[in-house]
Amino acid sequence: MALIEQEPRTEPLVTTTMRAAVVHSFTEPLSIDIKPIPVPGRGEVLVHIETCGLCHTDIHAAHGDWPVKPEPPFTPGHEGVGIVTAVGADVTEVELGDRVALPWLGYACGSCEYCVSGWETLCPNQQMMGYTMDGGMAEYAKAFAKYVVKVPYGITAAEASPLTCAGVTTYKAVKVGGTRSSDLVAVFGIGGLGHLAVQYAAIAGGRVIAVDLNDEKLELARELGAEFTINAAKQDVVAEIQKLGGANQAISTAVSPKAFEQAYGSLRRRGTLVFVGLPKDNYIQLPIFETVLQGITVVGSIVGTRLDLREVFELHAAGKTRVIFEERPLAEVNEAIADVDAGRIPARIVLRA
Ligand code: NAD
Ligand code: ZN
Ligand code: ZN
Repeated sequence: MALIEQEPRTEPLVTTTMRAAVVHSFTEPLSIDIKPIPVPGRGEVLVHIETCGLCHTDIHAAHGDWPVKPEPPFTPGHEGVGIVTAVGADVTEVELGDRVALPWLGYACGSCEYCVSGWETLCPNQQMMGYTMDGGMAEYAKAFAKYVVKVPYGITAAEASPLTCAGVTTYKAVKVGGTRSSDLVAVFGIGGLGHLAVQYAAIAGGRVIAVDLNDEKLELARELGAEFTINAAKQDVVAEIQKLGGANQAISTAVSPKAFEQAYGSLRRRGTLVFVGLPKDNYIQLPIFETVLQGITVVGSIVGTRLDLREVFELHAAGKTRVIFEERPLAEVNEAIADVDAGRIPARIVLRA
């Protein structure tokens, strides 16, 4: 049977240009440029972005912090949420007018051993939104229809944005860590990711210990369900957590290798350390002897699948999670980055295009 090719569909656009935040160099601030609105090709959609969260990953991207760097010029952003306004040929997954999220996993091949076994986030042929393809910090963004995730009715764009990376990443990290009811779970770093990690660990039945350098963030963690809080700037984190019996899981979202070493030291026997944060300084020292004799697991966890994100949205729609954010205009992206770096924000900044 011959395939019938679908005609591209589009809503009338009043303009052909858009504003986008662009990284031109790793050593300069982002600029707000006027660019042509992208045209969706086969299998692609054009999304009119309402909001995009500012993840610390966007800051690493803008600074070229990681071993594998993006190529400027590019538009960051992988918490973009907006309305489908144009649909390329052969798109069956979404319709014009749908509200969708554009997560980090912008594309995966769909046929490698990882894609077919529920680990699309490990696809070696993936593209990353806001890293290898232009992301959501713009008025419009193009995306592969198969890799956008519909936002359920009742969740606003601003709430959906932090769930699209911070949410799905920590939801997955708790799954990967294997938290079971009554486990002690230490969450290091109560920022965008951490404030949601606390909630997912509690939903899984864990008793949560929140660790940060900032008392306000620890206060927030308590409001969100943490039973214990430790300020790593003032207290001996490892000793405090060991006094509680040691953590069954430690999830490190902190942007500091030191926190990873402390997270390791806070584990009890058979404990699991989940690496989530991606600090610029890429290495920590771990002892072989203790790891072997105490049966420790160390595991990396990268974002989450489309299914994980659907589950995250369902939990939120059911009223099980709270997203803490502050909204700013896209034009203030550089000030927003400075405030995240200085720890001056509650959990997440959401930029409105
Ligand atoms: P954020 O800036 O919002 O939060 C980081 C938090 O860590 C802050 O609250 C800060 O006070 C705290 N912190 C810093 N040093 C600390 C220390 N020594 N001990 C305890 N807490 C400390 O950042 P975010 O958006 O939550 O992202 C966190 C990290 O996770 C970034 O490196 C980001 O690139 C990475 N990330 C990884 C994935 C993944 O899939 N693995 C996904 C998204 C983000
Ligand atoms: Zn992110
Ligand atoms: Zn693949």
